[in-house]
Amino acid sequence: MYRLLQHDLPPYEPALWMTCVCIVAFVLMGSRWGSVFTGVALLIVLIFLLLIPPSTPQLTAAWLAGMTVVGVISGVCYRVTRFIESNLVMHEEDHAKLNKARLDSLTELPGRAAIEEELNRKLEYARKTGTPLSLLVGDIDHFKTVNDHHGHNTGDDVLRAVAKRLRRNVGGTGGVVGRWGGEEFVVLLPGLAKPDALVLADRLRREIGGSELAGLSITTSFGVASYRGPHDTANQLFGRADQALYEAKRAGRNSVR
Ligand code: GH3
Ligand code: MG
Ligand code: MG
Repeated sequence: MYRLLQHDLPPYEPALWMTCVCIVAFVLMGSRWGSVFTGVALLIVLIFLLLIPPSTPQLTAAWLAGMTVVGVISGVCYRVTRFIESNLVMHEEDHAKLNKARLDSLTELPGRAAIEEELNRKLEYARKTGTPLSLLVGDIDHFKTVNDHHGHNTGDDVLRAVAKRLRRNVGGTGGVVGRWGGEEFVVLLPGLAKPDALVLADRLRREIGGSELAGLSITTSFGVASYRGPHDTANQLFGRADQALYEAKRAGRNSVR
């Protein structure tokens, strides 16, 4: 810079370089730091112009014009990067809201729609890789009596406590727990074949019945179904798990089928 001005060289090449560097700064640092960088760079050039003024007014005007062009292009870069950033933030916020909407508000477990989507994804994976996949449907026994005898709020507390216990005990297996609706829960178990899924369901049943939840003794029944091959669908899998749950209820509840 010092040399350029001292030898009265025209500003075209430095202005071109500065423009490129400022564009790269906006791309790498974003709108905020990009504009700080550009501002500081322009300020330095202006200070040099004041300290070592070019020998002719034409050259001074050319330098000022060159720096104005750099400033205008940086302004455009600022606008463009701001626009991209605000769209990205909006997109992230929408995504977070959407994910929140997909959680059941009472238990904070994935709701029915989220579980259906997840099951389809897991089924697709099982089809591609031939790995096992199991599905548990759990239903609290005589839950209507809980509401009738202890009130709806206690019923809600029980639902939250069951959800927590399910999540705690399924967490390590890579399974996904969801609330299917009412007092019914679903557990997706990728990688688990039926014998292992039955063992896990029985462990969950014992965990829930083992100690009081929201001050009450609660039991649950579970129906288990496992993926049978490429022609098996989500509906069929759910149908079999529901049928197994029905049998567990008929067998006297607090059981797994
Ligand atoms: P079973 O052993 O055959 O499953 O009997 P049950 O009483 O658990 O089953 P039923 O389907 O008769 O009753 C389910 C009850 O769950 C009825 C409904 O009022 C209650 N329920 C559904 N959703 C909620 C909820 O979000 N909070 C509360 N507190 N109760 C709910
Ligand atoms: Mg039910
Ligand atoms: Mg029930």
